Amino acid sequence: MGNCIFCEIAEGRIPSIRVYEDEDFIVLMDINPLTVGHILLITRQHYVTTLEVPNNILAKALPLAKQLAEAAILGVGAPAFNIFINNGPESGQAVHHWHLHIVPRKEPGELPLKPGAPADLTKLPFVAATIRDNLK
Ligand code: 5GP
Ligand code: ZN
Repeated sequence: MGNCIFCEIAEGRIPSIRVYEDEDFIVLMDINPLTVGHILLITRQHYVTTLEVPNNILAKALPLAKQLAEAAILGVGAPAFNIFINNGPESGQAVHHWHLHIVPRKEPGELPLKPGAPADLTKLPFVAATIRDNLK
C-alpha cells in the first residue's frame, strides 16, 4: 500500500520501537503517546477500519490486546488503561491502517482524539523494555 506509514513500519522501511510481533500483528510504541506506555497493535496487512479486518484476525486481536495491556500497566505501574480503535477520519483516525490503542492510565480525565506530545526517544526504548519484560 503506497504512502502508508504503518505499512512502511511493518515492512521495516521506517524504524519503530517494537514490543511484540507475530505473523498477524506488530506492536509498537506510539511516537506521540497520550501517556507513558501508550502502545499500538497494528495489523501486518493493510486494512483501514475494523470493517475491513477479517474476523479471524479480529478474533486474535482482543486476547493479544489483553496480554499487552496487562504487560503495559505492570511495566509502567498504572492501575487502569484504555483500549480503543478509531475508525474513519470523523472518528479521529489519522493513520488509515488499522490499529488498536492501548493507553495505560494513572490519572483520571478525558483522552484527546489526537496524538499527544512527541515521545522522549532516549526513554522510549526503556519503556518498551519494561512492557516486554512483563509479557506473559
Ligand atoms: P489514530 O488517530 O489514527 O487512531 O492514531 C494514530 C497514532 O499513531 C497516533 O497516536 C500517533 O501518535 C501514532 N503515530 C503516527 N505516526 C507514527 C509513527 O511514525 N510511528 C509511531 N510509532 N506512531 C505513530
Ligand atoms: Zn498500511
